[in-house]
Amino acid sequence: MNTHPLTMPIPEYFEEILDSVRDDTSGEVAQYISQLKNADPNPLALAMCTVDGHIYGAGDDEHEFTMQSISKPFAYALALQEHGPDNVFAAVGLEPSGEAFNELSLDGATNRPMNPMINAGAIAVNQLINGVESSVEDRVEKLRSYFSQLAGRELTIDRQLSESEIEGADRNLSIAHMLRNYDVIEDDAHDAVLSYTLQCSVKVTARDLAVMTATLAAGGIQPLTGEKLVDARVARLVLSMMASAGMYDEAGQWLATVGIPAKSGVSGGLMGVLPGQLGLATFSPRLNKQGNPVRGVEIFKRLSEDMGLHLMSAELLTQHAVRSIEKKGQTTVIQLQGAMNFSAAENFLFSITEHEFSGETVILDISRVPMFRPMGRRMIKEGLRRIRDNGFRVAIFDPDELLPDLEFSDGTECRQITSPEQMGDQVALT
Ligand code: GLU
Repeated sequence: MNTHPLTMPIPEYFEEILDSVRDDTSGEVAQYISQLKNADPNPLALAMCTVDGHIYGAGDDEHEFTMQSISKPFAYALALQEHGPDNVFAAVGLEPSGEAFNELSLDGATNRPMNPMINAGAIAVNQLINGVESSVEDRVEKLRSYFSQLAGRELTIDRQLSESEIEGADRNLSIAHMLRNYDVIEDDAHDAVLSYTLQCSVKVTARDLAVMTATLAAGGIQPLTGEKLVDARVARLVLSMMASAGMYDEAGQWLATVGIPAKSGVSGGLMGVLPGQLGLATFSPRLNKQGNPVRGVEIFKRLSEDMGLHLMSAELLTQHAVRSIEKKGQTTVIQLQGAMNFSAAENFLFSITEHEFSGETVILDISRVPMFRPMGRRMIKEGLRRIRDNGFRVAIFDPDELLPDLEFSDGTECRQITSPEQMGDQVALT
């Protein structure tokens, strides 16, 4: 018995999602930065990190790319940490602009940038880091080292890319001049854009981004190192900005359909946060008209639907989906509780891979489960099938007949029991 360690079905599910979007070659890589224009458009990656620090990845999840606009929420977090909300609000507003990322626009009433997710706001936020007197290099090093702490490894800067961006940065230079004109920034326009461009050129992988976003999901605690890197209130503020303005001029539609606070970047990265649960990241360089990665958007739509991730769905969430694992005689009973969405199922799978099963029979008691999301159902059945494949007889105690079908992915059926008496050790399951 218990001959093989149980494995997780999540990476297989991720591979399946990547396969379903792989052939979509619509969209175009960003044209306005020569190094991005010549970039390979094909890499495709998906990664996830839970607030407990479990990382799952698929595809080119170790492929490095520059953060670009994905750096904006993290730079905003650092500015809030360094200066406090009131001082940051004095420089940059909190309203979605509904405009393109590089719009030359300010709030008409205050002459401040509308929010920190568009370039005008991000250049102003960048200037706050390390104080107004800071040199470009010291400021950029502060950002690089903070991003590295968030990722849990030393990140580097693609200086060639920032040089190639600076060559054609007329638009961002105009924004910097506009900001100087209204006393939002003090620095020389060229230095301000150089500093912001270097911030955009920090290199990450999809796995790094998943960890960085999971830190925001965990209220600022880095899930791998346990370091407190962002105050919980700051994390909440950053997520709010991502929700209302993170997806350029597609932000409203994104929130309504996908429902995950997110931020995209022109190099093809896309990250999303499920507060209290997990961080997600994709990488795929071709962009749609709004500048968001075509395949990344598709992946997020599917994940949101399959996994029940829409922030506005009123689901009962539970921190511990596994209420207990108890052994009586030769029978082990695993009792689940709460709604079985993705996070709950992940908690179940993780608990069973950690548990040393013995005896003959394993019963999954779902009497305290009010509902299953399709992804939760699939993962839980898959976990139970793997227990069976390790040599145990398995059954589901489903008194309310919540599961419509008990077929496993290999076509075999799981036994169902509907009365508590059948849960006893004496019962012989076939
Ligand atoms: N460096 C880019 C710029 O400011 C970032 C843009 C983006 O990713 O949206 O133009």
